[in-house]
Amino acid sequence: MKNELALFGGDKTFDRQLLSYNPFGPEEETAALEVIRSGKLSGYIGAWCPDFYGGPRVQTFEARCCEYFGVEHAVAVNSLTSGLICAVGATGIEPGDEVIVSPWTMSASATAILVWNGIPVFADIEADTFNLDPASIEANISPRTRAIVVPSIFGGAARLDEIVAIAAAHNLKVIEDAAQAPGVRYGERLVGTLGDIGGFSLNYHKHIHTGEGGICVTDDGELAERMRLIRNHAEAVVEHKGETNLVNMIGFNFRLGEIEAAIGAEQLRKLDAMVTARQRLAGCLSARLRSLPGLRVPEPLPGSTHAYYLYGMTLDLPVVGASRERILAALRAEGVPALTDRYVTLHRYPMYRKRIAYGSRHFPWVINGAASSVSYDDGICPVAESLDDRQFLGLLLCQYAFDERDIDSIATAFEKVWACREQL
Ligand SMILES: *Cc1c(COP(=O)(O)O)cnc(C)c1O
Repeated sequence: MKNELALFGGDKTFDRQLLSYNPFGPEEETAALEVIRSGKLSGYIGAWCPDFYGGPRVQTFEARCCEYFGVEHAVAVNSLTSGLICAVGATGIEPGDEVIVSPWTMSASATAILVWNGIPVFADIEADTFNLDPASIEANISPRTRAIVVPSIFGGAARLDEIVAIAAAHNLKVIEDAAQAPGVRYGERLVGTLGDIGGFSLNYHKHIHTGEGGICVTDDGELAERMRLIRNHAEAVVEHKGETNLVNMIGFNFRLGEIEAAIGAEQLRKLDAMVTARQRLAGCLSARLRSLPGLRVPEPLPGSTHAYYLYGMTLDLPVVGASRERILAALRAEGVPALTDRYVTLHRYPMYRKRIAYGSRHFPWVINGAASSVSYDDGICPVAESLDDRQFLGLLLCQYAFDERDIDSIATAFEKVWACREQL
């Protein structure tokens, strides 16, 4: 029964329990305990005073991030969702302005635009990198475009040089959503440091985490200060601080706590090792899966690395000769864990399809009776839609503490399913 597919009663290839991914050790325990013993779990005050910028651990963590990422400013926040809201707000967009974004990203990359009453415009992605296609960005630029939100999704770098050049030619700001790509090299730099602002998530299933948290980086002092204001009740602070630019100075409480910041500083030390470990696993998997007909494995762009938050594959269906649904059923029957056939295709969300975000009258797509002509219909991003409907297959490497033996069994399961795929 060994060569028979488990789907048809054969033996399973993968038959063990996996532990959840856990990046913590005694260093984080000690760091957290020190904060608790200090009695000061946050150092922030939401008024213009020395504590406006947060407590000592927040500021130390920010200084470490500046060193690691090689940037002038790092702004710690309580999530990257908050960070993206700070970033878009800092650019000073007006209601009704358009911001180009990928449809293949976590929802917050686009919601951050809507928070400032901007209009998300979805450009298509490339089937091999899952990231924004520079040609589609250009095709979507209008006189109202102000910025581009560029994810490096799954940990693979977007075509940042090209995108930054397009932005420069059209006077657009670039916000990099590098949530899934911390520590990813792009030429001489790190992903997240090529745009005007970059952001990293520290939520509990990212490479390094603090439970919830995020960090924004920039070399632009003005953008950094505007993000710090939005993070901490800007409207109550501007007067005493002497700020005169009130554009988007609606503040929030996006402050990261001292425990999380102390943990974050320890996690940052481990980032390179975590990413290297993930690259080793992905390398083992790709060495086996690359030769399977019709299966495209993730490859970093030339000159860049990949963090493999998710191991994203594409099916060339005529070559595979079986549907994604059947392939997935067969792999799952073999016991392969953490598989997914879906990512996100944002323009298909009801909020965009129905254009209902604030209230019931289509604001901000309709402002004072003037309607935006931006489309969210199927057909605007054919590559993303086809991946979503038929072609995408992902392994959630971020979920479990996979080791090389696990990866070996997963590869064996793929090989078995591919060998028997005409039965599907
Ligand atoms: C996780 C993630 C976010 C949001 O980060 P949070 O810290 O969970 O708010 C944004 N964009 C992408 C691509 C992400 O993966």
